[in-house]
Amino acid sequence: MTDKRLLPRIMTGVLVKAGLVMFWARLGSLNSLAQTSEAAFWLRWLGRSLPSADTVGRTFAQVDSAGLRISLAMVYSRLKRNKALPPINGFDLAVIDGHETHNSYRRHCPGCLQRSIEVGGKRRIQYYHRNVTIMLLSEPLRLLLDLEPQCPGEDEVTTALRLLKRVLLRYPRAFQIILADALYARSPLVNFLLDHRKHLIVVLKDDRRDIYQDACGLFSRHAPSKGSFRTRDCLWWDQENLTTWPQVKKPMRVIRSQETWFIRRQITGQLEQKSSEWVWVTTLPQSLASTALVVKFGHLRWDIENLGFNQLVNEWHVDHIYCHDPIAIEAFTLLAFLAHNLFLTFLWRNFKLHRCNRKTFRYWARICLAELHQLDHVKPNSRSP
Ligand SMILES: [Zn+2]
Repeated sequence: MTDKRLLPRIMTGVLVKAGLVMFWARLGSLNSLAQTSEAAFWLRWLGRSLPSADTVGRTFAQVDSAGLRISLAMVYSRLKRNKALPPINGFDLAVIDGHETHNSYRRHCPGCLQRSIEVGGKRRIQYYHRNVTIMLLSEPLRLLLDLEPQCPGEDEVTTALRLLKRVLLRYPRAFQIILADALYARSPLVNFLLDHRKHLIVVLKDDRRDIYQDACGLFSRHAPSKGSFRTRDCLWWDQENLTTWPQVKKPMRVIRSQETWFIRRQITGQLEQKSSEWVWVTTLPQSLASTALVVKFGHLRWDIENLGFNQLVNEWHVDHIYCHDPIAIEAFTLLAFLAHNLFLTFLWRNFKLHRCNRKTFRYWARICLAELHQLDHVKPNSRSP
């Protein structure tokens, strides 16, 4: 492996700028990027020709991700200073979740996790990568702040704790409440957040747990209150000061929300009733957040799926393995986060996209792509090294 000190400093900056354009134009691979090398755009954007696909992949396998994390923090700081990240109902929120980027039965690297899967009656080892991502929620921006790769032999909560330790150092006042799914209802995580004066709202699914049974026993003795969430009619139960989770340092609060709503079927035109039930456990006391607010925040957990991972995978091609190397995978994903944050910020600050400009994100990505296919002013010697 090449010594990192031998990498020309200018090269990393050039490659980051080239990679940002690759994500903005949704090119999806280094080879697609390389095919645009004759565009006049690159000389204007990079001040030189576009490096080859091999050079980009090889360099990202040696890049220091700390620089990309600093760039992500700079975007956050600038937006915060310009009051572009307003709280939601008075609270700064962040959501954490795990994401599996890809899997393979053949190709693997030292950073791959592995599991045994039955395929055609035989057990086979499947290799995969997973990270834990944190997304900051504000209206209307959703910023992807950081990620931590899950290491072989560790569980997702351990990875999340490592991520939060770093994030709280760099973003100590960026959020007051963490939202998470049921996997994160674990005492080390709750206690860690309490020690850092942060709150947690987490889905509670395991009906075998003492606190779940304790809360349900108390709920059965009290009539629910009526409420609403979006177009849904809700019945809410809300019980605090529960001490049946002794591993956590404070009594907890459990909220149950039974929700009903109607959808109209396109084929028949008939209204159909739908229903769902949610239970959350939280460190937030009733004196700080009402039942309605915790229910609203609890549902915002899905933003990291709908506005984060789904967008990144389906539109930004983040799950593509640009170079199968643990350092490169982390660096390319962080670069995609930076591209995503800059793209949304630029559109929101300049066009107020959702308010007065009805064009989609995909439209603006195609504008970027069109720029890469303009060959009118190609320089004869602008070839890749
Ligand atoms: Zn791997």
